[in-house]
Amino acid sequence: MQDFASIIIITLAIAIGFYLGRLSMKKKQSTEFIPYANKSYFQGLNYLLNEQPDKAVDAFVDSLDVNKNTLETHLALGKLMRKQGQVDRAIRIHQNLLARPLLDNTQQHQIHLELGRDFMAAGLLDRAEMLLKEVIAESAELRNTAQRFLLDIYQDEREWQQAIRLGEALLGSRFFKSTDNKRLPMMKMIAHFYCELAEEDRQKGNEAGCKKNLEQALIIDKSSLRASLLLGRFHNQTGQFKPALKVLNKAISENSDFIADLLPDLLNAYEGAYCDKGFERFLYDVNHKLANQMSVQGLLFTIDQQLARADRNSQSSALASDMLVKYLHDNPSLVGLNKLITLRLPSLTGEVANEVGNLHDLLQKLLEKRFNYRCINCGFSGRQLHWRCPSCKKWDQMSSLKNSELD
Ligand SMILES: [Zn+2]
Repeated sequence: MQDFASIIIITLAIAIGFYLGRLSMKKKQSTEFIPYANKSYFQGLNYLLNEQPDKAVDAFVDSLDVNKNTLETHLALGKLMRKQGQVDRAIRIHQNLLARPLLDNTQQHQIHLELGRDFMAAGLLDRAEMLLKEVIAESAELRNTAQRFLLDIYQDEREWQQAIRLGEALLGSRFFKSTDNKRLPMMKMIAHFYCELAEEDRQKGNEAGCKKNLEQALIIDKSSLRASLLLGRFHNQTGQFKPALKVLNKAISENSDFIADLLPDLLNAYEGAYCDKGFERFLYDVNHKLANQMSVQGLLFTIDQQLARADRNSQSSALASDMLVKYLHDNPSLVGLNKLITLRLPSLTGEVANEVGNLHDLLQKLLEKRFNYRCINCGFSGRQLHWRCPSCKKWDQMSSLKNSELD
């Protein structure tokens, strides 16, 4: 058995030796024609073995000639460098490619697109914009891809008018087929661009512009939470309380997770529309129509409003406690429990009051560290609702944390 194993090993060794010999002959021939390429190649190998990957990449790029067959490899290496955050090196690889005179137009456009993305990653937006516009103008094949990257630049630069024009052009292009499921996110994104313009108009006091942009947002995305919230607020501010009630109630029915964000404006609309009876009607809706979708934050807002209007007398505090206990029974949460202690604390006396007070302070400190929203795409958490995630820059990704997730 041992003899048999030895024969196999010797045969393999001869075969490998024969193969290496052939390889070495070929290498010798090619070295005579392109000695520089091989020198760089072996230098690169050396760097790699000495754990100097940065120098190894440079040496390999030098050793690999640029032609139709190797272009993809150079581009892939550039992309890899950019992905790893080595933007300078990616730029160098792509600029080095552009210096080669033998590339045709299609290949040059491909490199311009990648170089544009490098500049975006480096924060050199003006230079990126210039390159991408060049690709859009000259390459039918890469036009839509370049447009999609240019759209990112317009968003970073807060150029909303240009972003709308480009987004709508993309929607009408072959980039989005009519059945494409990417259409909906693009439409929702454009609705946000209109909302951004509406917010700018509101700050400038341009009421007509603000209303027009919000209506445009709702045309392109009729269930836009942000556009409904801003339109409801706009109606409240211009004294049109009934239309405000309509748009806000519709928004709550479609976005019950964000009820706590909509309730303050809904209350304003009720009080504007029904004056003294406004809060009563609001409370009725909270307890009846909205009870099934109420979040703990929404309920706490309602309780605070109830207490503020009742001069914090003991009866209103007891009513608020009962409302909370009933809610917590079905939806237990530490946030709710903390509020319950706040409501009950004034009725306690002596040592018990001190001890409960200390526990309440501790609980309060713990809860101050909690977040209200989390990005479902990248996990970024925050206390404020961001329409565009500050971390991954995607729209509509912040989800309102449920009662159990808050604790
Ligand atoms: Zn995110």
